[in-house]
Amino acid sequence: MKRFLVLAFAVVSVYSLQAQSPGARTQADWDKLRPEILERYRSLVQLDTTAGHETRAVEYLKKVLEAEGIPTQTFALDPNRANLVARLKGNGSKRPLLILAHTDVVGVQREKWPVDPFGAVMKDGYVWGRGSKDDKPVLAANLITMLMLKRLGIQLDRDVIFLAESGEEADLAGVGINFMVREHFADIDAEFAMTEGGGARIDSGRVARVNIGTAEKLPARVRLVATGTAGHGSVPRLDNALIHLGTAVQKVGLWETPMRLNETTRAYFEKLAAISPPDRAAMYKQLLDPKSAAAAQKFLREQSPGEYSMLRTSVVPTILKAGVGANVIPSEAEATLDIRALPDENIDAFYAEMAKVIADPAVKIDRLPQTRPPSPASSLQTEMYRAMERVAGTVYPGATVIPSMSTGASDQAQLRARGIQSYGIGPASTESDETNYPAHGDVERLAESSLYPFVQYVWNVVVEVAAHK
Ligand SMILES: [Zn+2]
Repeated sequence: MKRFLVLAFAVVSVYSLQAQSPGARTQADWDKLRPEILERYRSLVQLDTTAGHETRAVEYLKKVLEAEGIPTQTFALDPNRANLVARLKGNGSKRPLLILAHTDVVGVQREKWPVDPFGAVMKDGYVWGRGSKDDKPVLAANLITMLMLKRLGIQLDRDVIFLAESGEEADLAGVGINFMVREHFADIDAEFAMTEGGGARIDSGRVARVNIGTAEKLPARVRLVATGTAGHGSVPRLDNALIHLGTAVQKVGLWETPMRLNETTRAYFEKLAAISPPDRAAMYKQLLDPKSAAAAQKFLREQSPGEYSMLRTSVVPTILKAGVGANVIPSEAEATLDIRALPDENIDAFYAEMAKVIADPAVKIDRLPQTRPPSPASSLQTEMYRAMERVAGTVYPGATVIPSMSTGASDQAQLRARGIQSYGIGPASTESDETNYPAHGDVERLAESSLYPFVQYVWNVVVEVAAHK
């Protein structure tokens, strides 16, 4: 604690010098800030904030923010899973900017870790720990940004709202974003939001690509239920529910739903076409031309399922349930389909089309409860997106900025559904680190060298979008 006080004074004095020239007023001294960034980030990783323990992070954040004169509010549906909001007021000429991060982390299997998963151990240039990627870099960057806005006395055109939310990974009780949007929306309502859901890729030692998350697919799962006549396993029946279900699952599982690009995915493939090796670039160009798209889709279906999924609403069978005994024909059989819809999909029309593909009156489509609201893609034409693109170019010189649509789902859905233009960010990783030490993986780690530019990125975007001009 003492160390921080000393550090804080050092920082303030550096800034009061810089404050003399208006251009330098918003310049932070990143070399001086490094120890504090690392310390705060590691402190957050050291908190075991697995589901049910998120209030630990809220207590830490409250203490740090309030020690520097930033008031906080705590909102809790469950006292152990609180959310924290802090607001720096602007002059109100523009609507607020919300910077948010989730505090919870997924569980750990300790025996898989070479180090203490909540030690934030520094080894080989990495900070190791659960949450070191997901989502504590964003939480730490947002925290530092709030502290620096306050210390430097930055005049704001819009409020900057900091939200630390619980229960992102498993919010079955609705304690996090659902609670905040439903009960306390006025406290977080904003024109723009920035949170996890993007990233950056390091190739040959430099950041080559920066992804800004602008859209995500909508989980729209169903259960297929086939019914038939029950009977003895020794007597074959044409109305066997398993046969009907099996046929339906095969049809929808192989169904090539229509390809449709949106603003984000079109820009995504265009940018990839511009930076990929010749073969791959030619394939992306084929994809963008309706006359040749079929061949490119076939390639992606076989070689790059993630990108294939970005082209369409996808239907993936994930659960089969049927049968009570080897000699019994059951009267019912069911399958679960994990359907991920494009942001602009007409879900009713899609289910009707699926019923036509199945074309079997013995098989019914039952909708499962939706876990997320439909969320429109955020625009690439906003002040926020343009600032993120510009800042990426200065923090990561030479990097290509690519908007991306996640095939998964995140808390941005709830924000976009309420009219907030929301954008995803993340620190940079190499491909091998992303593969071997991913978010939610057995072992998670972040290169220390990725942390500092990421904080600068968040800071610069917030200043560009919110500071008084
Ligand atoms: Zn996350």
